[in-house]
Amino acid sequence: MVGMGCHNPPVDTSARPGRATALRMEGRLHVLRELHAGRIATRAELTTRLGLSRASALEITARLREAALVHEEAAPPDGRRGRPTTLLLPHPEGPLVCAVDIAHETWAVAVVELGGAVLARTTGHISSREADSVLNAVRHAVSGQLDEWGQRVRVLSVSVPGTVCGTRVVQASNLRWRDVDLSVLADLPVLAGNDATLSGLAESRRGAAVDADVALHLKIDVGLGGILVVNGAPMTGATGGGGEFGHLPFGDPRRRCLCGAHGCWDTEVDGRALARLAWQEDSAEPRAAAQRVLAAARSGDPAAARAVDSVARAFGRGVGGLVNALDPRLITVSGVATDLLAAAPESFDTAYRAGLIAFQRTSVPPVRASALGEDGSIIGAAETGFDHVLTESGITAWRAR
Ligand SMILES: [Zn+2]
Repeated sequence: MVGMGCHNPPVDTSARPGRATALRMEGRLHVLRELHAGRIATRAELTTRLGLSRASALEITARLREAALVHEEAAPPDGRRGRPTTLLLPHPEGPLVCAVDIAHETWAVAVVELGGAVLARTTGHISSREADSVLNAVRHAVSGQLDEWGQRVRVLSVSVPGTVCGTRVVQASNLRWRDVDLSVLADLPVLAGNDATLSGLAESRRGAAVDADVALHLKIDVGLGGILVVNGAPMTGATGGGGEFGHLPFGDPRRRCLCGAHGCWDTEVDGRALARLAWQEDSAEPRAAAQRVLAAARSGDPAAARAVDSVARAFGRGVGGLVNALDPRLITVSGVATDLLAAAPESFDTAYRAGLIAFQRTSVPPVRASALGEDGSIIGAAETGFDHVLTESGITAWRAR
């Protein structure tokens, strides 16, 4: 959001430790991040992947054990020759992240350990979208988890279907939220992110884009959002509002968007567009409308089938434009976008390729359905939570708890 006066606080560089301490800390953080990402699972892999001597690997894992970050167990023999090694596991008393996903109709709270395993999960339905009512229900669920897991929970990380600045939701059009502060959810550090951004982050870290250095994720739900993820880092811009691809002017300039602008791509690709094109219907519930039109198209309704085709083309054209602008290695899609691709693959593909500049047509970036689906946003929230924990200050605070 332009003009909301959103500025991220500057990084605190005071009280830095000495160089040797900093290097040791950097080594341990590197090991923890590799372990969290699932790239190493044993001490032997740690030595080979990170190029460490056995002595250094032993020293690092001993420190991580002492700090209740890692637990070691003898690895079962794998029948190959070589020294026996140990499995590196999350410590049973180690740090946790509480991840929250606030969607349009439901909310979920999950407690996640190093490595991404979910230890506990509670969910609920949203009956009133009033911010106070939703936040009360979520706060209650979070507080239940904090009672159970105590100080092990280091951070609360929240996904919301809106534009986020710091811990504030500056705009969530379909929830009709303006300037809602999420820091009231817990007496802990609170992080917040947009659902489509976090879904894209999750696909790059643990889903269909895990092998891609530059991946574009697009999610159609109520409108369209997404993110470009470069080497595992989401490109969220100067204030965290980046990735609002749905508000590119790929639509009819006569049509006004909920965001206040005219001609947004949003107005051509979600359930509202499907209902308008199929039945000249003005739908206030884009998700339900999308499912109704897609179901009608599947059962042979010609008007619904034409609408699905037309929306798949509008989506494909825009994806082509984004590929020209951003040059991703691959594109992952989730939400209604997955259904559109499945329902009208040729219409999508023809429009996508027609929109590409000649250079991109020589090796067309593939478009894949997301691997994590609806879970992407809560997994992405947990990932940003661990990005916060697995830092110098996060580990220092953990050890001083
Ligand atoms: Zn818009």
